[in-house]
Amino acid sequence: MQTQHGNEPSLIDLGKRYWLPVYRPREVVLDHGKGARVWDTEGRDYVDFGAGIAVNALGHQDPDLLAALTTQAHKLWHSSNVFYTEPPLRLAEQLVRVSLFAERVFLCNSGAEANEAAIKLVRKWAASKGRPAEQRTIITFKGSFHGRTLATVTATAQPKYQEGYEPLPGGFRYLEFNAAAALEAAFAEGGIAAVMLEPVQGEGGVLPAAPGFLKRVRELCDQHDALLVLDEIQCGMGRTGTLFAHTQDHVTPDIVTLAKALGCGFPIGAMLAGPKVAEVMQYGAHGTTFGGNPMAAAVACVALAKLASPAVLMNVERQANDLRAGLAHINHELNLFAELRGRGLMLGAVLADTYKGKAGDILDHAAAHGLLLLQAGPDVLRFVPPLTISDEELAEGLRRLHAALQAFVAASGAT
Ligand SMILES: *Cc1c(COP(=O)(O)O)cnc(C)c1O
Repeated sequence: MQTQHGNEPSLIDLGKRYWLPVYRPREVVLDHGKGARVWDTEGRDYVDFGAGIAVNALGHQDPDLLAALTTQAHKLWHSSNVFYTEPPLRLAEQLVRVSLFAERVFLCNSGAEANEAAIKLVRKWAASKGRPAEQRTIITFKGSFHGRTLATVTATAQPKYQEGYEPLPGGFRYLEFNAAAALEAAFAEGGIAAVMLEPVQGEGGVLPAAPGFLKRVRELCDQHDALLVLDEIQCGMGRTGTLFAHTQDHVTPDIVTLAKALGCGFPIGAMLAGPKVAEVMQYGAHGTTFGGNPMAAAVACVALAKLASPAVLMNVERQANDLRAGLAHINHELNLFAELRGRGLMLGAVLADTYKGKAGDILDHAAAHGLLLLQAGPDVLRFVPPLTISDEELAEGLRRLHAALQAFVAASGAT
């Protein structure tokens, strides 16, 4: 319980005292969930429009995930990659099969680790072709987010994540997202080993690649013998209405990274490697203690099968339409959003100029009205509910959002 007993600190006080203060959580202690609803320690319920940052794609307490986890928990928790266990073998086979391009898989524990593996693979590939270190540049795009390790935060072309961590690793170059001409110019200068991007930028503001952009990137990569690396950590696993977002862009990547919804709440990441790169890293070239952990892999096998099912993917389309319509309806009354963008159940509502910088305030109002909501930077509200959210849960979430936004507008008018 969150209530105070004598001099005992509350749970939130513990966070404020003992956690490295790198987060600013909403002042709520969540306790349990079911479907697209979560309850806090005071017994209040919330509609979950954030899904633990696009992670809980099957909602909370999915019975099949629970069964997979508990069954494996009674067998073997961990073995390391010094021995085989069945779950990661099955998972790798399934990922290769559904990817339609990959030949091999490296399993790890997070998105940053999957991207770190991808960056190392690009470098190893370029090295194997005899290219000197200064000709192994990886292009990424402004507004991107690729993780928080030193290499992935360097790939992340947003200064706010990098400040103070210099010296950063070299060999990255940042370009404007969706600007084909800038990319052509960079390739013309030479030395490019790969282009790495999110088909839909997540943290950077829920911004999809423009129609045809990925195709153009692929063409340029082919012309200049560079690799196409797609970070589908947030937009993959069915979130945009297809298992992989890039199939909607009609491109075949060389490397794809997954994490977030891959384990639907159990930490796991994966790097999928296509034919050009599948044999580049050999014995001893990379590794991880926990990667391919049987508990995580057992959950991910079931998650993958369910997220790839027509039932889930059709629900994404259905609920995405309702969510868009609901947001447009609210905006008709309140005039808060300049733009609605995104794909499938990965939507961003860009705040109008008057409300720029206020996303955090809106999230406080949302929580107070029983809604878990995310932002993507200070100016964008981010909607990434479970892909299995029901009609009733979505409608209730929209009602609570409406009330929260009315309260926000009233409060901003008053100050
Ligand atoms: C969340 C995210 C990452 C980093 O994943 P972690 O598991 O937090 O390390 C990388 N890329 C994208 C697109 C993400 O959304």
